[in-house]
Amino acid sequence: MKMGGLAKELAGVVGEDGVLWRPEDLMLYEYDALSSERQPDVVVFPRTTEHVVHAAKLATRENRPLVARGAGTGLSGGSVATEGGILLVFSRMKEILEIDIENERARVQPGVVNLDLSLAVADQGYYFAPDPSSQKACTIGGNVAENSGGPHTLAYGVTTNHVLALEVVLPNGDVIHTGAGHWDRPGYDLTGLFVGSEGTLGIVTEATVRLSRKPEAVKTLLAIYDEVADATRTVAAITARGITPAALEMMDGFTLRAVEQASHAGYPMNCAAVLLIEVEGLREAVEEHAEEIEEVCRENNAREVRRAKSAEERELLWKGRKQAFGAMGRISPNFYVQDGVIPRTRLPEMLEFIGGIEKKYGLHIGNIFHAGDGNLHPLILYDARDRSQTARVLQAAREIIMQCVAMGGSITGEHGVGLEKSDLMPLIFSADDLELMARTKRACNPLGRLNPGKVLPTGKMCGELRGGPIPGGVA
Ligand SMILES: Cc1cc2nc3c(=O)[nH]c(=O)nc-3n(C[C@H](O)[C@H](O)[C@H](O)COP(=O)(O)OP(=O)(O)OC[C@H]3O[C@@H](n4cnc5c(N)ncnc54)[C@H](O)[C@@H]3O)c2cc1C
Repeated sequence: MKMGGLAKELAGVVGEDGVLWRPEDLMLYEYDALSSERQPDVVVFPRTTEHVVHAAKLATRENRPLVARGAGTGLSGGSVATEGGILLVFSRMKEILEIDIENERARVQPGVVNLDLSLAVADQGYYFAPDPSSQKACTIGGNVAENSGGPHTLAYGVTTNHVLALEVVLPNGDVIHTGAGHWDRPGYDLTGLFVGSEGTLGIVTEATVRLSRKPEAVKTLLAIYDEVADATRTVAAITARGITPAALEMMDGFTLRAVEQASHAGYPMNCAAVLLIEVEGLREAVEEHAEEIEEVCRENNAREVRRAKSAEERELLWKGRKQAFGAMGRISPNFYVQDGVIPRTRLPEMLEFIGGIEKKYGLHIGNIFHAGDGNLHPLILYDARDRSQTARVLQAAREIIMQCVAMGGSITGEHGVGLEKSDLMPLIFSADDLELMARTKRACNPLGRLNPGKVLPTGKMCGELRGGPIPGGVA
């Protein structure tokens, strides 16, 4: 088989080892953590902004789709080349270009892995605050595109709160710079526009991000409950006391047992739910808040409240929590991670609703929440080979999202819209809202060839779009 013209031309710029074009190589890039869709025509590994500019110009000249990809951990199908074309994979643009501790910022290439940035500045007492559970693998380019969150975004905000400036390549090959590393720039907040745009407005080739100082003290508590409702009630009760923990996570007993079997982190096997709570800050305030939180947990019938006694114990608890999705993969051939948001005061009702859906559709659903943010991740287990079960999963997932919207919440908390939820956008945006978004997209991406089929409604339903057996399946 011979290299096609497009691959040849790209290889002339990035080198032959920077291009994949054989179908067996392209197979690796036909899916992300949502599902498989279709192969790109060619995969390119740029090393410089100029390489990206060249690929963008070539895609425009040939009227071919252009899609950016970081680590492919996205859960809404964002980096899948649904219409083929050129897939730009950023695994060779992974340099930390500058660390400026005095000004608490770093300049990085988009392929830098999230955790690697925190590790690089740990010795100096700093870290990068957005901490998605996928942080050992996902890239800063992906975090910027998805405006990712994580357990600690309850106190520190999502990615957009930590991005100061961007270098972006537009689909026509123009290179623009947004924001500023050191001061507020007047004019429109273009950095804010590109963060969360899911690779549909431009391609990020460099990001200047805020570094945060590590807190003086951290306390990690594990509150253990015999009733799920008591755990969910505690969440609102903690914030009602005027305490904002750095993290407030919930796992139900079903999820917990899978997590414990996989991670041996020390989670109890015989309870209905746990809350993993972290408080950070100045030593005295942290101790005071930890005591107050413990009191609130007990008032809400916590059976036991444990405190991590060492950094190792804390690490282990977080390792278990962050590997929860993987733990589900050990007990089920496939699972669908739903991502929705509700006001945290309505968590008890929502848990009851999900229990009803589980019974109605005869499915197993594990619950793992960034509870402090009201961000739900029901994990719906299934076997993708069973088509009727798959159809029930899709229906169950949809009903959960409709309920989030009915409760005044949102169709996604952090995993993005991608191709998974574009048809749901009219549930939370008016026709005028969507038209303005479409006009904004046309201003940056006039031919619509940059990451086509994502974010804005296409008129196709999720199931129809894929037609395959694994809609939204994480194996
Ligand atoms: C086990 C697991 C746990 C997760 N936990 C969390 C969590 O706690 N919080 C959370 O928010 N998410 C979570 N995610 C989802 C995912 O990890 C995040 O969305 C992450 O930011 C994606 O990064 P990535 O590098 O894998 O991007 P990809 O999946 O490769 O791409 C995601 C999107 O970003 C675009 N993109 C990538 N690079 C660029 C670039 N340089 N310029 C422009 N667009 C670009 C792509 O086109 C695509 O639309 C989790 C996923 C998994 C599998």
